[in-house]
Amino acid sequence: MNYQTSNVYTKLCPFCAEQIPVQAVKCRYCGELFTPERLKLVERALAAESQGTGEQTLLVTSPSLWALVNSFTTGFIALCAAIFLLIVPIEKPFGSSKSSDGTVSQSNSSSINIAANQNPLQQQAGSGGFQSSMRKFRILLGLLIVLITLLWLATKIYVLRMTRYEITPQRIEYSRGLFDRKVDNLDMFRIIDMKMRRTPLDCMTGVGTVIVYTTDKTDPEFRFEKVHNPGQLYDIVKKYSLDADRGGSVVHIE
Ligand SMILES: [Zn+2]
Repeated sequence: MNYQTSNVYTKLCPFCAEQIPVQAVKCRYCGELFTPERLKLVERALAAESQGTGEQTLLVTSPSLWALVNSFTTGFIALCAAIFLLIVPIEKPFGSSKSSDGTVSQSNSSSINIAANQNPLQQQAGSGGFQSSMRKFRILLGLLIVLITLLWLATKIYVLRMTRYEITPQRIEYSRGLFDRKVDNLDMFRIIDMKMRRTPLDCMTGVGTVIVYTTDKTDPEFRFEKVHNPGQLYDIVKKYSLDADRGGSVVHIE
């Protein structure tokens, strides 16, 4: 392919609207092949849209909080570590520690304890300042971990709440992002295959993940993460992706 002339003789890819050479038989951006069958599908999709039949929204959904189970687990562990730092005086030598959690205190202060037994007077005189600065550092670290963990979880929840899937007969629209909000489209006729994944916990909580495989090179796999009523979503997308392909005698190329 002659890329030197491609900026003079270009056309827009009918599938992704990127600039490509006029003589291209395959888009280098989205990987679509310009076979008559594939082009016919685009024409029909555009025709349906101009008639207004593609505007109807079939389903609007978003990921449930169950998509964040792993994040919540990590956050919980971090908060436990922070609470431990805030309440257990690990800087105190074993013996003067009031903590009931003897095993942890012992392992942390055993070296100090030996020093204290060997040289009790020196230890008592010199460790006061060290202990109080260690105590400050411990509490500061604990509070810092709490703050970072809560901020991180809040961001995760906010990003999740901003993610939205909208399904029309022609395409799947998904919007996501925090500061630069992105809206992407996935045309129904680009869907090759679908799968639904549900863990036992998903079944109990009524959620599931629907995975859609597409001919799109940049987005070959699209996931509806932990949505409510995944069966309904699966059926709708399946029906309309088959409808979009119908009559075209389409050969899917991967
Ligand atoms: Zn393209």
